[in-house]
Amino acid sequence: MEQKALFIIFGGTGDLAYRKLYPALFNLYEKGYLKENFAVIGTARRPWSNDHYHEVVMSAIEDSGRDAGRTNSELPRKFASHFYYQSHNVDDAEHYVALRNLADQLDEKYQLNGNRIFYLAMAPRFFGTIAGHLKDQKLLTEGSGFNRLIIEKPFGRDYQSAKELNDSISGSFDEEQIFRIDHYLGKEPIQSIAGLRFGNALFNSLWNKEHIDNIQITLAESLGVEERAGYYETAGAMRDMLQNHIMQIVSLLTMERPEVFDSKHLQDKKIEALENIQTYSKEEAAQNFVRGQYGEDAAHTQLAYREEEGTADDSSIETFVAGKLITHNPSLDGVPIYVRTGKRLAKKSTQINVVFKNDDQNIFNSDPNQKLETNVLTLHIEPDQGFTLQFNTKKGNQGYQLSPVHLRYRKSASEKAKTPDAYESLIRDALMGNKTNFAHWHEVRKAWQIVDVIRQVWDAETPDFPNYASGSMGPQAADDLLARDGRQWIFNPQK
Ligand code: NAD
Repeated sequence: MEQKALFIIFGGTGDLAYRKLYPALFNLYEKGYLKENFAVIGTARRPWSNDHYHEVVMSAIEDSGRDAGRTNSELPRKFASHFYYQSHNVDDAEHYVALRNLADQLDEKYQLNGNRIFYLAMAPRFFGTIAGHLKDQKLLTEGSGFNRLIIEKPFGRDYQSAKELNDSISGSFDEEQIFRIDHYLGKEPIQSIAGLRFGNALFNSLWNKEHIDNIQITLAESLGVEERAGYYETAGAMRDMLQNHIMQIVSLLTMERPEVFDSKHLQDKKIEALENIQTYSKEEAAQNFVRGQYGEDAAHTQLAYREEEGTADDSSIETFVAGKLITHNPSLDGVPIYVRTGKRLAKKSTQINVVFKNDDQNIFNSDPNQKLETNVLTLHIEPDQGFTLQFNTKKGNQGYQLSPVHLRYRKSASEKAKTPDAYESLIRDALMGNKTNFAHWHEVRKAWQIVDVIRQVWDAETPDFPNYASGSMGPQAADDLLARDGRQWIFNPQK
């Protein structure tokens, strides 16, 4: 279970490292995936000492909620002693020489067999420079060890920039060595999708165009843009949520069954699934996607997006997007997938609703035109985790009428507490060389190609914003999108 490795974290003084990476590495240490044979070099421009770095790492563990009473109080200190700080400007080639010397020294001291994981917890504009210098300055080991690169989103802002970014790192790292983080793939309920589909004959046998009417994916946030206006003004909901997280979920829901459940087979099927999502023409994109931006709420207690600090008074950034995608994967050919994400919506919830086709023959109700309710399987991702299955049973009254009931399973608070955090799970996978839960370049590429067409349509017109009230479920057009197909959103907290 234990893996020997040297982590080199670029951006070691940053927010991501502090809030996510150090606590995640500590959890792996506590669970024995990292033992004596590991070391971490943190780099950034600030001139920190090793002692100061140790204090920072220990306080990151404490701030993550791991109080000393619960963990062995000596453990964070022992863990932190494996950390080394190296002041480093990523643009300066000479700094990599010092980094290489330290890396070689630690490799020997901790007997790491040349295993190296380079974690770029920095803005993507630095990725190419770092990757280039790692190769030129010989930080990549040769021989028995492995070299792996972990990178963060955003991976480009359209296909062209994503391709340039990918080209800039692929001179130093092969695709098998690149671990692109999409933290949704580290979430346990997202990882469970494959198990639910392929581990249950009940669902596996029904997961096809004969039985599924449509699939709905909602990533609803109740909060507004908060302190992220600077970033959000350049991104918007489409780039922030749809291109990456939603498209990854789409691939997991629509992929064909892999022959074997391993990372290679799964990734091939996910790539194929995204390739088989229809890329729209501009006309189709305009018909099938809607955008929105939140205004104030009815009681005037919440600010409109344009009034938030750091946003432009006339911002045309979307805080909401809804759309219809169509898969042409053989099993689900033609099945619509309705997707939706937004800020300041009525309720925070990430959920997937799989809506099954209705049985045309309703033999139970006296009125033959009265349809039975459809069967709906809901996968609750967060904050609830679990499933709900809606099905029909006999009503407890005279005669024979059916009405829907809900079979629910929810993870308990204690089960949820035991579930590893997304970063812990993903870093463990990278440490073990398991690429199952990382985005392949071809997935990223295809997702951008789908999104680029929609953006081109949107960028050519000035939207009439704001067009939905804070606390609603988005603009009317998002409901109309389904109504025109004779459908409605299953998740509707306002009903
Ligand atoms: P941050 O600004 O807090 O940290 C950036 C780090 O880079 C700092 O350590 C800084 O000192 C270092 N740095 C900047 N310029 C440098 C240079 N020339 N040489 C050496 N070091 C330099 O940013 P962050 O929030 O930690 O995010 C890092 C990356 O992760 C970004 O790409 C971000 O989009 C992504 N990300 C962050 C989060 C998060 O929760 N913070 C979540 C998802 C993705």
